[in-house]
Amino acid sequence: MKSDGRGTIRENVQAAAKSGLKAVGITDHGPRGIGIGVENLSVYRESAAEAGKLEEEFQIRVLIGAEANVTGTDGKLDIPPELAGRLDLLVAGLHPFVLPDRGSEALTWLLPNQFARVSRFARERLRSGNTKAQAEAVRKNPVDIVSHPNLMLAVDLDELARVCARYGTAMEINTGHKYDKEEIVTAALRHGTPISVNSDAHTPSGVGRLGEGEALLERLNFPMEQVFNTRSDFPAGKFRRV
Ligand SMILES: [Zn+2]
Repeated sequence: MKSDGRGTIRENVQAAAKSGLKAVGITDHGPRGIGIGVENLSVYRESAAEAGKLEEEFQIRVLIGAEANVTGTDGKLDIPPELAGRLDLLVAGLHPFVLPDRGSEALTWLLPNQFARVSRFARERLRSGNTKAQAEAVRKNPVDIVSHPNLMLAVDLDELARVCARYGTAMEINTGHKYDKEEIVTAALRHGTPISVNSDAHTPSGVGRLGEGEALLERLNFPMEQVFNTRSDFPAGKFRRV
């Protein structure tokens, strides 16, 4: 993986096949994540070029996507629309350390969010801006999954679940981090929002570790047909067809 993860795509795909998954998503961080983003957008095309061969070798679907950063309260992403439309899987979420665009809300929104991790007061105060940013991102981009809502940066889960349900976007249960996941599932239940369980693996050994999320969905009687992971209608490698 080519942003902050370890292991080659081949090693991660191999680990996914070994753990019994039928599909695996490779979603390197968008370029504006400070210290974790890809250096160049061409990374996604390069990854896509490898995917077909690996699918044949390991008999598993390989979805090439990105985890985009929401960079403004207008819902702008650091993955441009023409690229977003060609990815197999578009994940988009809020992250505390994001490079602002020129003339953007650096002082009013992005920078304060960097402090929100340590101050509960700041965290609460930024909730409505975060919710607006994430909801607009879902409205304006073909987002498949909202990554880790409410992890580090606070959002109104009820409002986000409502918007996601309307656009068929899943909210993520991220088994790679410790935070309150039950409130995400209950918000999704209230609004009929899909849920996606993801390992957020940053190493091959973490791929396929979904047990905590599966157990949570089972305990809360979450309907299987609302679970994004069970979908079989993923687009077939739009990059690879051209
Ligand atoms: Zn993330």
